[in-house]
This record gives sequence, structure tokens and C-alpha cells, in this order.
Amino acid sequence: MKQNLNWLQIYRLKGLKTSRLFVLIIVAVLLSSCTKEASLVKREAFLMNTVLTVSIDGDEEVLDKVFERLEEIDRLYNRKNESSEIYLINNHKLLRPSKEVYDLIDRSFQYAKVTDGAFNPAIGPLVDLWGIDGTGRELSSIPSADEIKKTIPLCDYNNVSIKDREVNLPEEMSIDLGAIVKGYATDEIVKILRDDGIKSAIIDLGGNIFAYGEKAGGNNWRIGVADPFIENRESLLVLEGKDFSLVTSGNYERYIIYKGKKYHHISDTGTGMPAENELASVSIISAKSELCDMLSTTLFVNGIEKGVETIKNFDAGVIFVTKDKRILASSNIYNMINLDSIKEGFILEKIDD
Ligand code: ADP
Ligand code: MG
Repeated sequence: MKQNLNWLQIYRLKGLKTSRLFVLIIVAVLLSSCTKEASLVKREAFLMNTVLTVSIDGDEEVLDKVFERLEEIDRLYNRKNESSEIYLINNHKLLRPSKEVYDLIDRSFQYAKVTDGAFNPAIGPLVDLWGIDGTGRELSSIPSADEIKKTIPLCDYNNVSIKDREVNLPEEMSIDLGAIVKGYATDEIVKILRDDGIKSAIIDLGGNIFAYGEKAGGNNWRIGVADPFIENRESLLVLEGKDFSLVTSGNYERYIIYKGKKYHHISDTGTGMPAENELASVSIISAKSELCDMLSTTLFVNGIEKGVETIKNFDAGVIFVTKDKRILASSNIYNMINLDSIKEGFILEKIDD
């Protein structure tokens, strides 16, 4: 996800000719060297199986706190890590997780209920069966119809009991919070920044974006939504605003290839297959990154028609990108889209309320 576009990228998006670009580049260099944005302090780490970047208008000590918290979240929730609470729960070695972990599990299973299982935190066995790790590697086989059929009932979230601070998981079932934990972590970072009185920051946890506060000088942030048809994550359009989260789920991020066909990492636990519909990507915009993360996965499974109904229950906006290059945006965030930024070949439409 391209975020915080520089001047050169912005002018490219507006389609200016190269001859004028040269002059603009010089102006841009001058401008950027005297804006405060250039002085954001940035740190990166590889955690949660992805690159996490946090840039703040603040000092290194705040970033120390931020990254300690990110490491802690990775330690608690990474189900591949044998000492994480999720691993221990999945292996029946822990019944009473910490309050923090219990609360996120509890919320995740409530989301499963309200989305009718489109968002399913009990998806562990299916994720393991498919083993879609994001390397884009070519496989000589995929799970058989029989294996898939046997795995679907193991993902029935209704069979997990979550009450009185205990998580009771039937044999062979497992919890996977991969579709929500980056959003949760983003909100946790926002809390730290607010406590420390930080005015301006960009959080990017593997594409989970939070444009925090406002840009130096009181300006809007300009955040790109990635073009799902291009590997290098070029921007499809630019959103402008303050203090909002943007999370995208797409069919292009993590996948495997079998017999020339791509199988991506977001699955429908009703069919046991990677979700397949008219969508190439879904982006959610709201004040809460956890909600964005949960809904982007959910609406990617739902497709447009059902997705539009689902999102009505939440305080969030959506941008669908279809495989035939239509962009459908909900009316509550439509004004955030910079109309000059839309990439050639795409058509923007507003979704009727
Ligand atoms: P990403 O983490 O790549 O940004 P998502 O937030 O959509 O994308 O999360 C995808 C991950 O969530 C998968 O790798 C898998 O672990 C898990 N997952 C896949 N499908 C679902 C689903 N329908 N509901 C909940 N979790 C899912
Ligand atoms: Mg998600």
C-alpha cells in the first residue's frame, strides 16, 4: 500500500506530462525539504509475518514504546509461535487466557455471529489445510474435495465456547486471528500515540493503515488505495482526510498457484475454498482499524450485494474494486476520494444508500 504519497507521485497521478514534471520535481524537492512531514521519525520491523512501519512527529522513546507493544502483540497472538496464548489454546494447554487475549477472541467470535460466519476466527484447520503462505509458489496439488469437506465442520465457530473468561475449543479445532490482529494492533498503537500527545503519524502494519491526526500545517493526509491488478502496489486512487484507518483485503496479496490458477488466502468457510466473486479488492475506511480489518476480510468473502447489507450495521465506509475495473464507493466516504487521482481505465461509481 502506498501511503503518504510524495509530490512526484501525486503529480503523476494527476497525469501531468513529463516535460512539466522536471520543473515540478525541483519545486517538490524544495517544498518537501521545508515541510515538517519530512521530519517524521520512522521505524520498521518484521513482525506478524509482515513489514510494520510507524512514522511519527515525535521522538524515538515513543517509537520504543510502540515497537515493544507490537512485539508483545506478536508474542501473544501468533499461532505459529509455540509460546503464544493462541498456540497454547489451540493445543489445549491453556483454558484461561489473559484478559486482553480473551477479549479479542470474544469480540472475534461475536463478529462471526453478526457476519453469519463470513468472518470466521475458527478458520484455523482450513488455513492449515490450504497452507497459503503468500510466497506465490507453484504447487503440484491442492486439497481434495474430500479433505475440504471433512475440514469445513472443524471450522464451525458455534462449537467454541467462550464464557466466564474461558475458551473451550473442541478437539481438532483452532483459532486464527490473522484477519483482525493487525487492525487490533494498529488501534493499540493509536492509544499509545494519543497518550503521548502525538499530533501526527502514519501507521502502516503490512497495509493496515492509520492516518493519525493531521499532516503538519493542519493538512489532510493523502493515502493511496492500491491497484489490485498491479504487483508493485501502484495507487488506484487517493483518499484525503484526517484521523482515519484504511484497510484493504485483496486477491493479490498472498496466494499459491496450481495449474496456472491463483488461489488466494481469504477463504469462505461455507465452501472451504478461497472466496470467489466479482471482487478484486475491498477497502474499508473507519475510525477503528480493528473494525476495518474485520470488515475488509468479511466483505471480500461477502461480495458486493451482501457486503453492502453487512456494512450497514457498522460505522464504516467501503470501496469495492471489481475484476472488471469498476470502483464502487459508499456515499459516507465518497467525498474523501480525490477525483483527479483515479487511475485511467477505472470507473468510479457511488453506491446508493
Ligand atoms: P491480510 O492479513 O493479508 O491483510 P486479511 O486481514 O483479510 O488479510 O486476513 C487474512 C488472513 O485471515 C488469512 O491469512 C487467514 O489466516 C485468515 N482468514 C482467511 N479467511 C478468513 C475468514 N473468512 N475469516 C477470518 N479469517 C480469515
Ligand atoms: Mg482483515
